[in-house]
Amino acid sequence: MSSLLQTPIDYLKGVGTNRADLLRTELDIHTFQDLLNFFPFRYIDKTKYYKINELQRNSADVQVIGKITHIKTVEQKRGKRLVADFIDDTGKMELVWFRGHKWIKENLKLNTAYVIYGKVNHYNGTFSMPHPEMEPYATHKEEVKIAMQPVYSSTEKLTNKGITQRFMGKMMQQVFIQTGATYEETLAAPLREELKLISKTQALRNIHFPKNSELLAKAQFRLKFEELFYIQLQMLSKNLQRKQRLKGFPFDQVGEVFNDFYENHLPFELTNAQKRVIKEIRNDLGSSAQMNRLLQGDVGSGKTIVALMCVLLAIDNNFQAVLMAPTEILAQQHYQGIKDLVAHLDIKVNLLTGSVKKSARTLIHEALEDGTLNLLIGTHAVLEDKVQFKNLGLAIIDEQHRFGVAQRSKLWRKNTIPPHILVMTATPIPRTLAMSVYGDLDISVIDELPPGRKAIKTVHRFDSHRLRVFRFIRDEIEKGRQVYVVYPLIQESEVLDYKDLMDGYESIVRDFPLPEYQVSIVHGQMKPADKDYEMQRFVEGKTHIMVATTVIEVGVNVPNASVMIIESAERFGLSQLHQLRGRVGRGAEQSFCILMTGHKLSDDSKTRLETMTRTNDGFEIAEVDLKLRGPGDMMGTQQSGVLNLKIADIVKDNNILKLARSYAYAILKEDPSLSDDSNAIYRKIYKLLGKDKTIWKYIS
Ligand code: ADP
Ligand code: MG
Repeated sequence: MSSLLQTPIDYLKGVGTNRADLLRTELDIHTFQDLLNFFPFRYIDKTKYYKINELQRNSADVQVIGKITHIKTVEQKRGKRLVADFIDDTGKMELVWFRGHKWIKENLKLNTAYVIYGKVNHYNGTFSMPHPEMEPYATHKEEVKIAMQPVYSSTEKLTNKGITQRFMGKMMQQVFIQTGATYEETLAAPLREELKLISKTQALRNIHFPKNSELLAKAQFRLKFEELFYIQLQMLSKNLQRKQRLKGFPFDQVGEVFNDFYENHLPFELTNAQKRVIKEIRNDLGSSAQMNRLLQGDVGSGKTIVALMCVLLAIDNNFQAVLMAPTEILAQQHYQGIKDLVAHLDIKVNLLTGSVKKSARTLIHEALEDGTLNLLIGTHAVLEDKVQFKNLGLAIIDEQHRFGVAQRSKLWRKNTIPPHILVMTATPIPRTLAMSVYGDLDISVIDELPPGRKAIKTVHRFDSHRLRVFRFIRDEIEKGRQVYVVYPLIQESEVLDYKDLMDGYESIVRDFPLPEYQVSIVHGQMKPADKDYEMQRFVEGKTHIMVATTVIEVGVNVPNASVMIIESAERFGLSQLHQLRGRVGRGAEQSFCILMTGHKLSDDSKTRLETMTRTNDGFEIAEVDLKLRGPGDMMGTQQSGVLNLKIADIVKDNNILKLARSYAYAILKEDPSLSDDSNAIYRKIYKLLGKDKTIWKYIS
């Protein structure tokens, strides 16, 4: 890295201390290098001109050539505005100013050709442009040599203090002059040749001063590739190192318990996806490296049985296992389910939750410590320091998003060597995101549902059709089914939301009266014991309808419930809608999900509803969600670098990401420590990266 690039921005000619301070505080630009790596976020084609009769409502970045024929001042309630008639050979539009009138009147010439640039409004049948950028056509023609003019992100404060787009352009020119305009290469020659990547120097020049659109595209590709490549190199390498460094317990024998279960007690044939995933996990467990694996599988894809088979493997190798769930109800369901599954095996399973009595708890503690308890299922309670294992070898965490990193590390410390960790989640993470966020975790995916499942039928209904929906519910209950009705509960509008919930509950009770119908209600303001009681009644089939807020979102399993009504569905995010829908479709019957909304819907809401009615595929839904919301709102992104990307976009540049990852992988596979001469560039940058997360400080 050239030290010249590390020169403080104060030393750039024409900047000065005041502006340098602003650049530091507003844009995090401290050095020449930071400035070079401050990439435009879009480009305007300054060679494209519109005719007035081609203008569209609300178009931005519009450039028109024409003349001012007349200027007038219009008085209005809140001050004056200046309006100019602007014409070309196809029509007339207006230019409008709300301030700076004196200057404009004195400087603008009538009947002289100007180029105007800005955003177009449409009002009373006339197009107008407020506060256009203006330039006499004669000088414009001289100056515009590049088609693509860069636009840098800016702040109001910067613009007010004179750091405009034009000034930014000047600084860029100056920084190229003062740094000699040639830059050290950061990608090895063979790779550049293979991918036909332009040089670093060419890329930097063309990202700021594109010669033409073709070179701009090449510059963008090269820099995006570089950014993603180094992130992937870092992640993949960390993963490799973790495997080498962290010894785990090898579960190298497949023994009696596993085989007995597999051959004699498996209640169904495993799906191919389940078999594949079990194989992946067994490979991990059999090696001497500690496993750190994320198991993704849509609701109902059968993760529990996979978890259980891993537990049996641990037991066969004389280790204990723990299975942790986020709620008491879920832990209980796991406990019941698993106890039934292993009824014929000679293993001991216990449940530990907050409500387990002290005497029973003491017994569990003892059995854990002397090793007679093979599997502990529970809630957060299992994390307490008092809970000590004789030999914990495997920890499984269900519905991972409810647990934090700190809790995971508590599990790590429950044995001298950290146990193998399997995290199970039903929130599908788009592959793109998983690659960038969880690059240092191994991922297994169950992408197939057990056979014979009927796809849930999803429809969208407006509130005005409620009576028809109620009739449908009545028919389903008549057939012996149960129904969920879910209301949104958002913290910011909690009071109103509770009112909606209670109103909804009352209207349902009115339409489904006792003694014929039993209706339960569950929400977050109830005491846990009352909540559990109502839940339990529904699980046992004693109530027909469960009215609830999203507390039922995670994990509850009631196979007889076949209808999910989601009220104000437009207010839910896609992943939440999908999670909620997953509560039905668990039995043999045809299930239904009805999304209720009012008539007023935003475009995003429409897309969400359309996506839900079109597909049941959690991964497809997650991809749409990522496109709608961007990576910032997706789980897990906060800790990772994906939000700090300077030029690549993990959604739009998915293909470049895959490419970058495959190259990083290939390089590390051949040369894990990057010690080969041919990898000298990567080694050098990798070392620098280790100290800092912001990749671009070092890849210049
Ligand atoms: P999830 O992945 O949502 O945790 P579960 O493990 O609870 O899913 O499984 C959902 C249901 O599917 C359970 O009733 C389970 O017994 C059943 N199941 C799982 N795997 C299979 C399979 N291969 N064939 C048939 N049914 C299965
Ligand atoms: Mg589950």
